[in-house]
Amino acid sequence: MPRGALYSSIMNALTPTPSPPMIDPFGRRISYLRVSVTDRCDFRCVYCMAEDMTFLPKAEVLTLEELDRLCSAFVGLGVKKLRLTGGEPLVRKGIMQLIRNLSRHLQTGALDELTLTTNGSQLGKYARELADCGVKRINVSVDSLDPEKFTRITRWGKLEPVLDGIAAAKAAGIRVKLNTVALKGVNDDEFYRLVEWCGENGHDITFIEVMPMGDIGGENRVDQFFPISLLRSHLAKRWTLKDSSHYSGGPARYVTVEETGQRVGFITPLTHNFCEACNRVRLTCTGTLYMCLGQDDAADLRAPLRQSESDELLLAAIREAIRRKPKGHDFIIDRDHQGPAVERHMSVTGG
Ligand code: SAM
Ligand code: SF4
Repeated sequence: MPRGALYSSIMNALTPTPSPPMIDPFGRRISYLRVSVTDRCDFRCVYCMAEDMTFLPKAEVLTLEELDRLCSAFVGLGVKKLRLTGGEPLVRKGIMQLIRNLSRHLQTGALDELTLTTNGSQLGKYARELADCGVKRINVSVDSLDPEKFTRITRWGKLEPVLDGIAAAKAAGIRVKLNTVALKGVNDDEFYRLVEWCGENGHDITFIEVMPMGDIGGENRVDQFFPISLLRSHLAKRWTLKDSSHYSGGPARYVTVEETGQRVGFITPLTHNFCEACNRVRLTCTGTLYMCLGQDDAADLRAPLRQSESDELLLAAIREAIRRKPKGHDFIIDRDHQGPAVERHMSVTGG
């Protein structure tokens, strides 16, 4: 068989047959899947994890082949955007093979975007290969540009390799957006500087409010909480912020900074302003599907995945789960609610 024909026949075999799209009970079309490919991480950010974490035994975690099969089933059900996250996605062994395999859905046009959220520690090593796999944009989490403070926040992280990784991604033609969690008394003196640095380097940035997810050891989320409304008015004293029509399909609301031309996004998960347009579901590395970041209801997809080589049971389980997608979340942080609103850490569902 000629090489071209062989390639197309392999592609066809690996491409899911399209079926009717997933529509939830509130009429929202599910087109975005976020997959936490590992719960492990080389950092221990103070708002995300306790320092002494117990991770899942390896046997419970889906293999790379199983992750591929699950993601591909979702692509067949109309998912157009796939985000790999974690834990830290780039510390999972063999991750580049998974990304390379998934990129076949970009080539067939079944998928519009394959992207990642990463802490950037391994980005220097993988940036070129990611670009080669068709990754065009990534989110990199940076909460401080001060090396000492960066290490204080991440406990185990170092700023320099992360900044080098961001530069490598940019050089490889990947657009980088920073994710910054706003932390009272920790990085609230750096908001101007972060926006300025992004302007100088051609990056957008999104500021995120702390969400009450998982036990984080001795840390207190009421103490960490910095309201995004205050952050926005704070930035407006220094920068000219113009409302932007940019809409990522997600919870962020954007402005353009007139002086730099870059976008600044704000995510306020404690408000409900994004639930009605929510188009996403989240898959953990054990194959549990969460239909809402802020609710505990979940569906096990690992059992139907492992029960049969055909995808019939799996597809039925996914459709059944989508029928249970709730209207919105119930996050709340105040002095009367100091425990986590949901027990799992953000690293389980990847944010
Ligand atoms: N390790 C990768 C990273 O840090 O980008 C991907 C996973 S991390 C869980 C995804 C995003 O969630 C990061 O931007 C992180 O800052 C954010 N995050 C983690 N825990 C959070 C929390 N409790 N509240 C708000 N954002 C959180
Ligand atoms: Fe790791 Fe990301 Fe959580 Fe930080 S936010 S501990 S980098 S998973």
